[in-house]
Parts: sequence; C-alpha cells; structure tokens
Amino acid sequence: MAGEPRLELQKDLARHLRAGHPWVFRKALARPAKGIPAGTIVDVVEGNRFVARGYYDPLSPITVRVLTREEGETVDDAFWRRRVARALALRKELVRGTTAYRLLHGESDGLPGVVADRYDRFAVIKLYSAGLTPWRAAIVEALRAECGDLAGVYGRDEIPRDDDDEGGSPEGRVLWGAEPPEQLAIDEYGMKILVDVRRGQKTGLFLDQRENRRLVRELARGRPEALNLFSYTGGFSVAAALGGSTHVVSNDLDAGALQLARATFKANGLDPADHAFANGDAFDLLASYKRQGRRFDLVVCDPPAFAKSQKAVEGALAGYASLNRAALAVLSPGGLLVTCSCSARVSADQFFEAVKEAAFKTRTELALVAETRQPYDHPISLQFKEGRYLKAMVLRRLS
Ligand code: SAH
Repeated sequence: MAGEPRLELQKDLARHLRAGHPWVFRKALARPAKGIPAGTIVDVVEGNRFVARGYYDPLSPITVRVLTREEGETVDDAFWRRRVARALALRKELVRGTTAYRLLHGESDGLPGVVADRYDRFAVIKLYSAGLTPWRAAIVEALRAECGDLAGVYGRDEIPRDDDDEGGSPEGRVLWGAEPPEQLAIDEYGMKILVDVRRGQKTGLFLDQRENRRLVRELARGRPEALNLFSYTGGFSVAAALGGSTHVVSNDLDAGALQLARATFKANGLDPADHAFANGDAFDLLASYKRQGRRFDLVVCDPPAFAKSQKAVEGALAGYASLNRAALAVLSPGGLLVTCSCSARVSADQFFEAVKEAAFKTRTELALVAETRQPYDHPISLQFKEGRYLKAMVLRRLS
C-alpha cells in the first residue's frame, strides 16, 4: 500500500526477511526512525523495493515485527481477524482432551508479540510489545468473535523494557466480558488443574508442558517416591500422584504457587497431607537430600529459562549441567529423570551435552528413553527457529 511510513534497511539485510523471519532489529535500519508513534504500520524497504510490512516499536531493539510480506495486504481489523481465525483453525483440528490450550502463539502463528491462552471459557492475552497497544482492541474483538463462546477476555501485558527483560507478571485487567474467578479449574486429560490467571506466571499455567504431564502420569506407575523440582503450581506433581507415586515432593521458591498446588491435589481427590511441599531453593534442597542419602524413583526437573540472552548461553549450559548433576545424585538406580529446558537459545544438542556431562560427572549410566518438544498448540514457524524452545528428555538410570 502506498502511504505507510517507509523504513530503509541497511544493505543486504533484507534476505532473512524475504525468507520469512519476522523481526527487524533497530540496528538493521539504514537510518534511525524518528517521530513514529508505537504501533504505526510501516513498510520496510530495500532501496525502492518493498520487503515487508509490520508494526513499529520505538522501545524494543526489535523495531519492526513483520505482519505481512504481501504488498497488497492492508493491516486493519479484518487482518487481525483473519490471522486469529487461521490460528484457531489449527487448534480446532488438532487439540483434544483439554479445556485449556494456547490460542495464539505469537510469531509462529503470524501474530508476532501476541500470545493468548484459553482456560475453560476465558481467554488470557499477553502482548509483548508496545507496538501492539493500538491494536489490542482489534485483537480482543477478533478472539471474542472467532471463539464464539467466551465468557471473558483478560489482559496480562508483558511489555519488556529491553532485550534481556522478560517483563514482570503484573496483575491484569478485564478487556472484555466477565472477570475470571480467583481459581479457574481446567480439565486436562481427566486431571483437574487450578489456575490463577490473574496473578500466576505467564498466563497462569505452563500449557506447553501438557503432553509431558500426561507422560509423567504414565511414567509414575510403580514409582512410589517422586520429586518435582521447580514445581510451580504442581502440574507434574499431581500427574505423578495420579499415575501411581504415593509420595510426591513439590519444590518451588514461590509459596503462593505451592498453596495452589495443594488445592490442585485436593481437587483431584488426593490428600496433600500424604505429600510434601518444600518452599525454597532447588539446589539447597538437592544438596540436603544428597547429604541425607535420600533417593527418588522419579525426578522431574523443569527450571525457568536459564539463558535469556545469547550472552548467557555459556552460563546456562553450565547451569543445566550442575542442576542435572544434583538431580542425578538423588535418583535411585532404575529411576527416571524427566529433565526440561525452555531456553530458546539452548539447542536440543547443547542440552543433551549438558545432561551427558552431568551423567559423566556423577558416574551414572543413563539411557535416553524418550525425547519430546512442544505440543500442537505451540507450533513453530519454520522461518522462526527461536520458536523451537522447549526440550524434554526422559532418562532411566541403569546403575
Ligand atoms: N515446572 C512448572 C513450571 C516451572 S516455571 C510447571 O510445569 O508448571 C519455573 C518455576 O521455578 C517458577 O515457579 C519459579 O518460582 C521457580 N524457581 C525459580 N528459581 C528457583 C529456584 N532456585 N529454586 C526453586 N524454584 C525456583
């Protein structure tokens, strides 16, 4: 379209955009953009040639997030509606057995910076860029209309200040319809999970771990003692208890999350008094278990992202190695370790090497019995490898 402000790319920087990558970094522009308000639709050009159209964000190092590479496509309310409809079609076809799933998965759904999760009849939306603020109402309306059966849309914006900042998890607000209850109960393959969508981390629950929760439930059979590190609200803990673990220790720094974990045990007919909840640092807990010679038949280890920037990758790999080393020290022979990494900047191979190092250092012989990635509702655009973030391995201790 004629009329959009045009931003000139530095020489030879158009290739990755033409290939479909959705980010234009500030430093990729030939000249700094000035006086353009956040959310303005801009054309990125090379010489006189149109390359891509997207929204402008003056605060982020990612100056433009690409919405379309079709010169004739206008970004208006109908555009957001089409993109939302396309994302929902994938869920309708592929997502079964749960009342909570990701509706919109940002870049990989052609909606850069936009995340929305569904919890029963509520949608919780997170915008990760100031450039989306003017489009919020259009996105909410598209969700409301395309879902058709929502009771409310709740907003939990997470607009970072710079590249290394993931934003906080501020309490949100109702964007449309009813206010969500304090605790929303969802049903995931027959397991109840209580979610605090207003104050919980991200949008309330780590939906990307759904298939791994199901896996843990299956793996827990005949494994009485289980340990869930970085348990948050106890999704893996309850899965283990339902699957056969008779004593599950849930560990997290966040006392509020452990409270909700207790309530989730109860909601599934399990008595939290039969289990343990350790509020504190995972490394300290593992060290004290090691001193006591305490062993577990199943250990789940799903820490927060260790590498939030490229600079932090080395440190993250060392962190994964030492954490898994400490986890292996409390794993019984024949026991299973389910270990995860959600750092996009750490590849599956690098994570594998870190765990291999941990096995070597602890002289444990391990067999990799399963490897998983993220589920259907967290698709990965082939042009956006950053979207391929979640990795999990199931390892059995042979000796
Ligand atoms: N495994 C969880 C999600 C983990 S999110 C699930 O499946 O739902 C990461 C969690 O680690 C957060 O709840 C955070 O409070 C906790 N955490 C961060 N650092 C920690 C530490 N050093 N020790 C224990 N918990 C920690």
